[in-house]
Amino acid sequence: MMAPQRFRVLRCCSCRLFQAHQEKKSLKWTCKACGEKQSFLRTYGEGSSADCRRHVQKLNLLQGQISEMSLGSLEEPVNVDGEEDTGPQQADHAGPQVSQRLSPCH
Ligand SMILES: [Zn+2]
Repeated sequence: MMAPQRFRVLRCCSCRLFQAHQEKKSLKWTCKACGEKQSFLRTYGEGSSADCRRHVQKLNLLQGQISEMSLGSLEEPVNVDGEEDTGPQQADHAGPQVSQRLSPCH
């Protein structure tokens, strides 16, 4: 019987990419994306290969969203007021109106 392989979710300190690596005794690992050699600092998750890959995807997605948001306002509360809550607006009818002219015929 073979023991199921355990994987860890690690994060590169250089390119900050999350990735799943097979568990091993060595404390050194190499980033799959940028090739940065680094020591094992902390794990973001452990489990089977499939579990870790799913977790990596989620973390990378989450990280992308966070860094996009932090470009604007880092820790400011999000205010959702603005132009939207000034009551009903009639901007929908701002387009050019086609008025039909009836040419008088005598
Ligand atoms: Zn890297």
